[in-house]
Amino acid sequence: MSRTIYDLIGLAAGIAFILALKGLSHPKTARRGNLIGAFGAGLATLVVFFYASPSVYGKAESSLPLNNLGWILGAIAVGLIIGVPAARKVEMTQMPQLVALFNGVGGGAAALVAIVEYLNLGSEATTAQVVFTVFTVIVGCVSFSGSIITFMKLQELMTTRPVVFPAGRFVIAATLASVIGVGGWVVSALGTTPLLILAALSLLFGVLFVLPVGGADVPIVISLLNAFTGLTVAASGYVLDSVLLIIAGTLVGASGTILTRLMADAMGRSLFGTLFGAFTAKPQDSSGVAEDRPVRSGSADDVAILLNYARRVVIVPGFGLAVAQAQHTVRELADLMISKGIDVAYGIHPVAGRMPGHMNVLLAEANVPYDQLVEMDEVNPTFGQTDVAIVIGANDVVNPAAKTTPGCPIYGMPILEVNNAANIIFLKRSMRPGFAGIENELLYDPKTMLLFGDAKSSLTKVVSALKAL
Ligand code: NDP
Repeated sequence: MSRTIYDLIGLAAGIAFILALKGLSHPKTARRGNLIGAFGAGLATLVVFFYASPSVYGKAESSLPLNNLGWILGAIAVGLIIGVPAARKVEMTQMPQLVALFNGVGGGAAALVAIVEYLNLGSEATTAQVVFTVFTVIVGCVSFSGSIITFMKLQELMTTRPVVFPAGRFVIAATLASVIGVGGWVVSALGTTPLLILAALSLLFGVLFVLPVGGADVPIVISLLNAFTGLTVAASGYVLDSVLLIIAGTLVGASGTILTRLMADAMGRSLFGTLFGAFTAKPQDSSGVAEDRPVRSGSADDVAILLNYARRVVIVPGFGLAVAQAQHTVRELADLMISKGIDVAYGIHPVAGRMPGHMNVLLAEANVPYDQLVEMDEVNPTFGQTDVAIVIGANDVVNPAAKTTPGCPIYGMPILEVNNAANIIFLKRSMRPGFAGIENELLYDPKTMLLFGDAKSSLTKVVSALKAL
């Protein structure tokens, strides 16, 4: 295959990626967008096997992929054996962890490729190639180790609260300075040892960078690491002379950066504050363990009576709704209330659940009409005229501590102001806190009623009780 045909196919794959992004921008076209993206990625992978690369560095390595066919097919087989069952088995609620892990692996792979290419190049490397290699190694390693920590937080293999240790900001500043210093050393002196030291320091920096991020800021960091991986891939595309990698990496880097900005804006956070604010935070005293204070719990019948006499009800879905897979039952409840003449809306917080748009996707699965989903800024002024706010498996996104407790991990995050509604109902299983690990005062509010149990079974009981009224 000639270089021209190879480049044209690469261009077709690049266009497929752009069309995929366009499709993913709306729920109705998202499935098609996903398929187009997968087609582009398949094409980009296949074409490599039919193109005899003249050389990455001007050396005659004409059949690089074919010479290493055994290794390549072996690596693909290992990837398939691990990846396919993992992706098939994963619950919808665990998707963000999987994405974090895949993202980290992508960054790590780009860094490894850059190291191997650098070793191949030896003293023939141009300064530009070395600079791009250094960039790829730093950002790829940070993305890899940072994503692993994010994965562990999301999987709750470690605390979800910010991990802040004494003099943390000095340690991170020193690590960052060392990364930059050793990067300069690699560019000026060339050599394997400094490059490996650079990789180790960058891995350490990735860990230190993500550890102090807690609760509300995790989604912003996930999307930032995603953007990092894109930039790493684009830089390795330069080193490998691959236009396709440059296009794909730039698309991921750009869209990840835009998403990071949008998330930070929606959360009322400055990006700088999110990334570096935690280093100035003091360790929190509160353990987040539920306090032994009285709460008002009720039965499904009590909830049904309250709903039956309401004129306006706002449903606030959260992560627990996804865990319980109660999206169809919540729609049944909403339809029932609407048939009784009650004004019903869903209040959607931008980071409810565990991934951007999680609640929209979940409720779309149950065919909840889009016009019933009301974004946070629009729904907040209406809580004053709302008789009942029914919070289903949500916690952090309604926690008033975001406004009242400076220094807590969600402080400054805009919340759904359910506290302004006349009555609040929480459907949850226990007094355990939400993802940020902090107590929610609203659970103890005199106008709050708690209906304990799995959201799906609680909602089923409420639907039956409401039908009977
Ligand atoms: P939270 O994690 O704050 O709260 C979820 C609540 O659901 C808990 O109180 C839990 O209580 C309850 N719950 C869990 N399972 C069930 C069940 N089966 N039935 C009933 N209740 C259940 O969720 P929110 O949606 O309010 O907030 C999202 C949090 O996740 C924010 O802190 C956000 O920053 C973070 N995050 C968001 C991401 C995103 O992109 N959207 C990504 C990563 C993190 P109990 O155990 O007592 O049942």
